[in-house]
Amino acid sequence: MSAMIKHHVSDELLLDYAAGTLAEGWSIAVATHLALSPEGRARLALMEGAGGHFLDRIDVDDTSPPDQNDSWQRMKARLSTDSARAQRIDAPSRSAPGSAIIPEPLRSYLGGDLDRLKWRALGRGAYQINIPTGDSESQVRLLKIPAGKPVPEHSHGGRELTVVLKGAFSDGEQVFRRGDIEEADESLTHQPVATPEEDCICLAVTDAPLKFKSFIVRLVQPALGI
Ligand code: ZN
Repeated sequence: MSAMIKHHVSDELLLDYAAGTLAEGWSIAVATHLALSPEGRARLALMEGAGGHFLDRIDVDDTSPPDQNDSWQRMKARLSTDSARAQRIDAPSRSAPGSAIIPEPLRSYLGGDLDRLKWRALGRGAYQINIPTGDSESQVRLLKIPAGKPVPEHSHGGRELTVVLKGAFSDGEQVFRRGDIEEADESLTHQPVATPEEDCICLAVTDAPLKFKSFIVRLVQPALGI
């Protein structure tokens, strides 16, 4: 299954995750992706190994780019406190069995039984479940998009992370399948479409309400809670 994963978490996001600087919502998305991606877990282990190994020996090179410098400083700061690990939401060290559509850590938020989830209609055959977290800066939701149907075209007020749990969606020329993660930001207006074979269930984390292009959709957006 892991060989199917084509869209991996970026180094930048993984570094923030490793450093424990991601807020809970984003951390759930990265950890859920990692639960389904042995390659992602291997990259994480490398980063953590490198961080721990060099922590006491190497000072940040002042000539390195500011972003990188910041990341290292944050990583050093976080890795040097015990509480960093406690706050991070960790992916399991091994992949969930194939039958488990909802892997840990998401399962502890939702329960493991897809059939018992309480979906709320979004209109046009789409459904969502809001997932409460202790993190007020992000919104975490499970989305179910009917086979062959689009998520309304929208842009983002900020970052959006989407992890596919079941089925697949296409976005432009790219197809995202189980375990794949899509990172979008405010510069992207896109229209993901569930592929025709089956309904697509994905975890979507946003840091602001989505901005829908269509006036009608914007009008009903508050009522739908999206
Ligand atoms: Zn989006």
